[in-house]
Amino acid sequence: MRARLVDTILLSQRGAALCCVVLVILLGLNALVFYRNTQTLLAQERSVTHSQRVLTRINESLVSVTNAESAQRGYILTGNAAYLRTYTTAARTVYHRLDNLRDLVADNPQQTHRLAALRVLTDQRLADLRQAIDLERTGQTTQAQNIALVGGRADVLQSAFGALTSAEITLLERRDVDARMAATTTTVTLILATAVDAALLAGVLLAIQRTFIRRARLAEERGHLLIEARRAHAAAESAVKVRDDFLSLAAHELRTPLTSVLGNAQLLQTHSAAFAPRDQRLVTAIARGVDRLRALAEYLLDVTHLEQAPPELVLQPLDLVALTRDIVAEAHETDPRPTLRVADAHGTLTVRADRGRLAQVLQNLLANAIKYSPDGGAITVTVERQGDRVRVSVVDSGIGIPPDALGHIFDRFYRAPNAGLYTYSGLGLGLYVAREIMTHHGGTLTVRSEEGKGSTFMIELAAAPRALADRPKQGSTGVG
Ligand code: ADP
Repeated sequence: MRARLVDTILLSQRGAALCCVVLVILLGLNALVFYRNTQTLLAQERSVTHSQRVLTRINESLVSVTNAESAQRGYILTGNAAYLRTYTTAARTVYHRLDNLRDLVADNPQQTHRLAALRVLTDQRLADLRQAIDLERTGQTTQAQNIALVGGRADVLQSAFGALTSAEITLLERRDVDARMAATTTTVTLILATAVDAALLAGVLLAIQRTFIRRARLAEERGHLLIEARRAHAAAESAVKVRDDFLSLAAHELRTPLTSVLGNAQLLQTHSAAFAPRDQRLVTAIARGVDRLRALAEYLLDVTHLEQAPPELVLQPLDLVALTRDIVAEAHETDPRPTLRVADAHGTLTVRADRGRLAQVLQNLLANAIKYSPDGGAITVTVERQGDRVRVSVVDSGIGIPPDALGHIFDRFYRAPNAGLYTYSGLGLGLYVAREIMTHHGGTLTVRSEEGKGSTFMIELAAAPRALADRPKQGSTGVG
């Protein structure tokens, strides 16, 4: 569930990020197209302005020619030298403007050609004007006036100016149309691009908004799940408490009558010599069964007490080799397989421990080794020194423990799946109690196991100083 939530969040984040990337790319493309259109529009407008400047220059050149003609005529008719100066200035301006015009139309071969012809005609016209002026200055006024009045090649020059002008006007009109078209294209592109960008932006904003809404919903869902999990945990805890309370109460209530029944059964046993052999067996079976039930009730009470308070330990120096030997010997009453190995030169390994509690741990480990080795495999109990610690290992070659169960076998009421519900009797409490006892001794209880191959349970305690140890004994002992 949690993984699904995380996946959904990441997915929506990735979706929004993808939309943003697409938007940025499209905005870039739009900007590029818009930039190119604007460049085209600017180029068109520049060529329109250029044509307008050419037309202005043509017109100015024509005005200068007309000025030169008027000044020449004024001088010839009045003889006033001021006209002569005006003529000279106008004639110079004509050439200056024609030079300027030549530069302006240099990119247009037809106009350049027309301008060259116009320049030849201008040269001829100005030469005519100059000739009349020279005649006037040398006193040949009548010939000068005749030339001035005739007008020379003025018409040809006028029509050359006209041709140049109309060609440039045609060009201007065409360029004007192109510029208008470019302006329209740019405007349309701009409108379209803006519309597309706006739509994309709206899409991204929508995606982001959806992401936030989804996140809020997921957070809400998570909150509900958390509340449910807490409720379930509280319910489980209270169920466990009800179970523990019940067990404690049941064990307590059973203990008194069982003790009384056991006492009576044992009393009967003492008088059983007078009974028939079958009745003797029945009385013994009753006493044994009741004793087992009483032990079970005691055990359950012990577990509930351990839950509430640490065990009361009476710590004293204790030879672990001797204790283990006793436990192994005791086990031989039910199973002859366990063997004892003592790996210590002194034959004693002393620890500080509560004898009864430590015996309980060893009995439990040995009973388990016997119980879970149903096919008659070897069971070895080793007592050895490990540095400043003493270790007892119980090794069997029984059913072993599945890897998944290894982390749970010290939990209360836990039984590994391969132990079966009814195949092997048990409550799943022995190892829990054993580990509690070892922990309160400052020691450890650990396990190594392979399913189908066997298990090794190890307890370790701090070794007591040698001074406390019993007198040295034999190095290695075998029991069984
Ligand atoms: P139980 O009364 O069930 O034996 P324990 O607390 O002693 O309870 O053990 C818990 C569980 O650990 C057992 O049910 C069993 O699955 C597993 N177990 C304990 N000792 C051994 C062993 N020597 N070999 C295989 N499994 C074991």
